[in-house]
Amino acid sequence: MALQGGFLEHLVALRTIGVVAREVRLPNDLNDIDGLIIPGGESTTISQMMDLYELRKPISDFAKKGSPIWGTCAGIIMLSMNNSNENPETLSLIDINIKRNAYGRQSESFIADLDSSIFSDQKFQGVFIRAPIIARVGKDIEVLSWLKDESPVAVRQGSILGTTFHPELTDDYRYHKYFLTFFE
Ligand code: GLN
Repeated sequence: MALQGGFLEHLVALRTIGVVAREVRLPNDLNDIDGLIIPGGESTTISQMMDLYELRKPISDFAKKGSPIWGTCAGIIMLSMNNSNENPETLSLIDINIKRNAYGRQSESFIADLDSSIFSDQKFQGVFIRAPIIARVGKDIEVLSWLKDESPVAVRQGSILGTTFHPELTDDYRYHKYFLTFFE
């Protein structure tokens, strides 16, 4: 989804691993694609632009068909349950609650080695930029990666994937490749 934020890095990552990927801006763009990534950026802006371009219902319908959606950082905020006045209006597509900017300001951004249930080899380097915290995880949520203190930072519910960090900002494409398994 190319409304705002880091969509270019996701396009590069996808193309590097051989995926035909393009920018999605308008409802019609959803008609002939198999999956969607909502990138990081600023969720309040992304939310407003989703209204402006009337994307909310088309994205919900896309998810209802079972089409995979992955949100990174602001993207996971957009996928989370709509439960807090501090958050922009979200899509409520994954049963988690989010606390925005919960690690502090931009200068408190950090990189951390993540443990993951889906990768058996080396740790995944998580790039956290003014990231949200996953404050509640519903009972149908699979936790895929977590920090040293065991707090979840990557979650899945069926065909919906959310990461609070930015795999597209590293050249480790294991998460992008993992997302491709949703289409098998
Ligand atoms: N702080 C941003 C927000 O609340 C998210 C930051 C990001 O996507 N890297 O929307």
